[in-house]
Amino acid sequence: MTNDTRSLYSQLPSIDKLLHQEEIQALVASYGQTFITEHLRKLQEEARIIIRQDNDLPAWHNQWANELQNRITLQRKSSIKPVFNLTGTVLHTNLGRALMAESAIEAVSQVMRSAATLEYSLDGASRGHRDRAIADLLCELTGAEDACIVNNNAAAVLLMLATVAPNKEVVVSRGELVEIGGAFRIPDVMTQAGCTLKEVGTTNRTHLKDYRNAINENTGLLMKVHTSNYCIQGFTAEVHGDELAALGKEMNLPTAIDLGSGSMTNLAALGLPSEPMPQDYLQQGIDLVTFSGDKLLGGPQAGIILGKNMD
Ligand SMILES: *Cc1c(COP(=O)(O)O)cnc(C)c1O
Repeated sequence: MTNDTRSLYSQLPSIDKLLHQEEIQALVASYGQTFITEHLRKLQEEARIIIRQDNDLPAWHNQWANELQNRITLQRKSSIKPVFNLTGTVLHTNLGRALMAESAIEAVSQVMRSAATLEYSLDGASRGHRDRAIADLLCELTGAEDACIVNNNAAAVLLMLATVAPNKEVVVSRGELVEIGGAFRIPDVMTQAGCTLKEVGTTNRTHLKDYRNAINENTGLLMKVHTSNYCIQGFTAEVHGDELAALGKEMNLPTAIDLGSGSMTNLAALGLPSEPMPQDYLQQGIDLVTFSGDKLLGGPQAGIILGKNMD
């Protein structure tokens, strides 16, 4: 180390000295001693690196308080900013998916202003359950026996698997082992839920007999996954919901479908590409369906499990 560099280091004020500066005292009053001390340490560390690399003092060496205030302001700015979605993908996962209806925004902000009967039943003047209000509406819309609302559809699938088929084999078609957005992959979710994935059929063709032949005493669930971000074309065959439901009934095994988005309305009737409807699968006899709250349903981030009450 040259004498020059040594003298630069010695020009850095100590944390203690900085904390006694009037402007920094003002920051301490707003943000607290611990927070400010932590930031001053970081600044000092940066100053040392600048001296080591550039043999010079940082540009802000006479304005520590100013520099600190700028950095705090920058850090406190929300990292979530409104943007225009010009991607061509209407429900874009990276851009917050569904926009909410004005009436929903109004209802949410109303309920946030006061205490509410989230877990309280006014009728019986007793404890209620937070799922009930929405679960009853979902049952009414879809004919499901019961409904459960969780963090997102990935959680819905994970919890559904861990509840229905722990330590059991789950039969899924090789054509439906989807990956969604890198984080959700059917084989990984199976492992995380403590299930063993039993792949059947081939990439392009899976028949009911493939499911049937895979069933043994360790089978816990027959499952389908909607291939929501790709499609297999050409010489193809898949097992439909009604066939799978019938096989499940015959073998006394539960059946489930991860629909991904699902749609409460028939999009084909509006001239749009059709999307599977949860109520159709339930009517066909599938025991459980799962889907996202913030895809075509148009709500906030949520995962929904609908179907048979298995208690
Ligand atoms: C989107 C999707 C998921 C994951 O849903 P999140 O709400 O992102 O957790 C799972 N499965 C399928 C088939 C999907 O399309």
